[in-house]
Order: sequence, then C-alpha cells, then structure tokens
Amino acid sequence: MTDLVQKLYREQTLSKQELIELINCDDSAAERLRSLAEKVRIENYGHDIYVRGLIEFSNYCKQDCRYCGIRKSNLNCERYRLSFDEIMECCGEGYALGFRTFVLQSGEDAYFNDDRICEIITAIKKKYPDCALTLSIGEKSYESYKRYYDCGADRYLLRHETADKAHYEKLHPKAQSFENRRRCLNDLKEIGYQTGCGFMVGSPYQTDECIAEDLLFIKEFNPHMVGIGPFISHRDTEYRDFPSGTLEMTLRLLSIIRLMLPKVLLPATTALATIDPRGREKGILAGANVVMPNLSPVSVRKKYQIYDNKICTGDESAQCRRCLEERVHSVGCRIVTDRGDSKNI
Ligand code: SF4
Repeated sequence: MTDLVQKLYREQTLSKQELIELINCDDSAAERLRSLAEKVRIENYGHDIYVRGLIEFSNYCKQDCRYCGIRKSNLNCERYRLSFDEIMECCGEGYALGFRTFVLQSGEDAYFNDDRICEIITAIKKKYPDCALTLSIGEKSYESYKRYYDCGADRYLLRHETADKAHYEKLHPKAQSFENRRRCLNDLKEIGYQTGCGFMVGSPYQTDECIAEDLLFIKEFNPHMVGIGPFISHRDTEYRDFPSGTLEMTLRLLSIIRLMLPKVLLPATTALATIDPRGREKGILAGANVVMPNLSPVSVRKKYQIYDNKICTGDESAQCRRCLEERVHSVGCRIVTDRGDSKNI
C-alpha cells in the first residue's frame, strides 16, 4: 500500500482501481499519505493559510437538491435576503479584519438577477480593488457568467457534486441535469475564472467507485480550487436518516487531492469542523490551505442551513477570526492577509 502512496506522490495520478485501493488503505498508509500531502502543501504554499470571508446573502433557492436544507420545497426553512447595504457592511467588516477575498454565496435566487449581481460585484471591486471576489451562486448561462466576470468577479465555486451520472440523478430531481452542471464548469473555466469544483464525502448512495471517478474527474478538469467536505444530513430532507461522511475518509481524500494537484487551493471546510471539533486543524495537517469563516450577519447565519448543526452560527466575525488564528497556529501555520490566488495556473 505504501507503494501506491509513493506512486501517487511521484506520478500525481493513479488508475481507478488503485484509487479505490488507496481510499481503503490501512492507518499506517493513511499517515504516510497525510504526511506527504502536508509536505507538498508546505513546498507550494509554505505555512500560509488563506482566509475567505463568506457572505451568505440569500437562502432562497429555485432548485431542489434532495439533500439540501434550503431547497425550494422545504417549507420549514425561514428565508432571508441581505440588502445591498448589508452585503457592503459585511465586506467592510471583513476588510477591517484582514480579509482580502470575499465569497458571495446564495441559493439560486431569481430576485438577484444579473443586473443586481453585477451592481454588487461592481461596488465591491470599486471599493476594495485589492480584494478578490468569488461567486458561489449556482448554475447560470454562459452569458450571465461572462457578465459577472466582465464586472470584476475573479473566481467561481460550483461543486460538480459527483462525476457519476447515475449517482447525480439520485441526489437531484429530474429537472437538474448532470450535463448542465458540466457545461457550467466548462464555461466558467473557458471565460477565465479561477474555478472550483468539489463534492460531498459520504453522500447518499456514493460508492468507492464514485469517489474514484470524482478524483479522476478533478485531475482531468484541473481546477484552481477543490471544495470537499463530509455529507451531513438535514432533518427536513428525504436523506435525514443517512449517516454523515466520516472525518477519516474526508482527510484521506484531501491528502489524495493535494498529491494529485499540488498547487490547488484546498479548503478545510465548515462541514469538516462540524463533524469534529478539530476538523479544520486536521484538514490543514492533511494538506488543506484555505479556511472560509462566515462574515454574514449573526442574525441570519442559523438560517443558511444546508445541513444540520452547522458551527460558528453564533460568533461575531472578529471572534471567529481570532479563534481561527489560534487554531491555525496550533498546527504550525499562520493566517495571512492576502488575496490568496491559486498557483495552479
Ligand atoms: S444545494 Fe445549492 S442549488 Fe441545491 S437546493 Fe441547496 S442551495 Fe439550492
């Protein structure tokens, strides 16, 4: 098994069968994998950890992903939208705390049409020209993506969700297509965004084969960022009784991705910190180099619940930043005031 770890380190890829073997490796191979991934992270990014200020500006969504707590058919979800001024206030607070990337995230909310999104992008980029702006607002047309990019958006996160079409169809209703998701990702890259894909670890009906296909897709797509975190069920979904993805598997996959794409930006996600109190620190030790604390007003944080028991819904941004700094220090790294662009160009 150590041979497979070495082979991945050397060649930055493996066959599908080898990946299936590696994700089921024993603890000693997993530790070897982790330590090589940490080494590769340090070779490429030193001890710097990038922070992104996450602004969840609307939890309205026209989509109906079966696992998601804010999908349109969940009538128990209390909906909210931030105003233009509230979004700008979040950025102001984040800038003062040293954030140089803002991530605007929402459900697919028709209220925020292209004109409104472009107005927000233009205002943020005008006021904070030294900051990068990331959008995470779902599936749009090529023309919409292009308009946002031309207004100054730098990056776009759109998890591919799963590289297996049959699995995709288990997680989504018929109206949401695997092909359109892929089209969106290809458009984003073609337009010139720093593009992020990703998937949930341990999602319902996910098999080892699905995971191996995800890894091979990521290798081939060669994104600038990869967001993976454990699946955590939400009580108002049909998948409420499915078990969460595990810490161990998520850490293994972070390490594998770091070795497959040494320069990729790899967040230690909030979901990882939700299933383990030291999830973020363990994620960094497994090769992650990004954290994304919440800058949304405390009053709305509990309402953006894609899954249950999300952490940090009660902290002020400043408290969140301090707490993160301490956590990151505890694993020998430091948070930097930097846009934190991808080196995977
Ligand atoms: S996962 Fe995203 S697109 Fe799907 S229902 Fe939830 S917020 Fe909407």
